Amino acid sequence: MISRYRSRLPVTDATPVISLNEGSTPLIHSPRLSALSGAEVYLKFEGLNPTGSFKDRGMTVAISKAVEDGADTVICASTGNTSAAAAAYAARAGIRCAVILPAGKIASGKLVQAFIYGAKVVAIRGNFDDALRIVRELGALGGVAIVNSINPHRIEGQKTASFEIIDELGEAPDIHILPVGNAGNITAYWRGYREFHAADRSSVLPKMLGFQASGAAPIFHGHPVEPHTIATAIRIGNPASWEGANAAVKESGGCIDTVTDAQILDAQAWLASHEGIFVEPASAASVAGLLRCLGSDRCPRCPFAGGLRAGSKIVLTVTGHGLKDPDAPVKHGGFAPVEADADLTAVRRALD
Ligand SMILES: *Cc1c(COP(=O)(O)O)cnc(C)c1O
Repeated sequence: MISRYRSRLPVTDATPVISLNEGSTPLIHSPRLSALSGAEVYLKFEGLNPTGSFKDRGMTVAISKAVEDGADTVICASTGNTSAAAAAYAARAGIRCAVILPAGKIASGKLVQAFIYGAKVVAIRGNFDDALRIVRELGALGGVAIVNSINPHRIEGQKTASFEIIDELGEAPDIHILPVGNAGNITAYWRGYREFHAADRSSVLPKMLGFQASGAAPIFHGHPVEPHTIATAIRIGNPASWEGANAAVKESGGCIDTVTDAQILDAQAWLASHEGIFVEPASAASVAGLLRCLGSDRCPRCPFAGGLRAGSKIVLTVTGHGLKDPDAPVKHGGFAPVEADADLTAVRRALD
């Protein structure tokens, strides 16, 4: 990814590039969401990055810069995916990684990733916002590089997703929809779109629509909250990039809105069974958000309210892979196979 967009990233010939071939993820046309919305809808499937989420885009830059600066230890707070990415890229770089997580709130796949990539894992009795506060305090003591999105290199790396979308579509979409947790990603996408717009690579600037879980919607409500949601990757009560999200929404004419956990889980199952794309719950907030925009309970500022012009393009970022968090959909869907004896008749009966 760094090699693809080197001139727009904070790297020099002196930067050792630590990469796992992240980025260049598929932009998948969605026939069914297109039919529902009357627009051309695409899904940017970030779950196909090396550790299964978009966090790899920021991490390749953050870890490369940390190694360039001589760091031998990186540290982060995480709802799961940042720690998976940090641990993998630290392993690749041959440096140490420590992660601070909210105990009991990390999806099983993500926790396994932190361990298997060799990170030191500390689970605190608190939420992500507490973990980030402790990481900031540890960073102030010195000797470690913080690789949360308060590290500006993370946002720089993540903006490349917008570049890829413009490269593929030939212009920016009219509307971009994504889930919002700590708000680093909406900040990064908006930066990427503006940069390519300024460089005449696109004549369009998309309206940015961010969706928070209704139980973890501090930006929507305008004040920090105690976060509750099944979508653990956006379970954040006091986002670090709050101002970046507000700027993206204001400058683009978009909005921040909410979707419920039930809408998120329904959208997750709908996307998997209608388009063959399995994303984690937080990622399904994009799809749930689009469905909300198409319904009658959309917010008054919704760009869909005035109708879309013909041929509009919409891109939804689906941020992480569904296999990261198998427990949530199983619990929601109550999935269980039909059991049968091991003979043809019994199996045919079970299939009927
Ligand atoms: C980190 C993450 C988010 C939220 O992104 P922010 O930059 O924190 O707003 C959403 N979905 C997934 C899968 C994530 O890992």
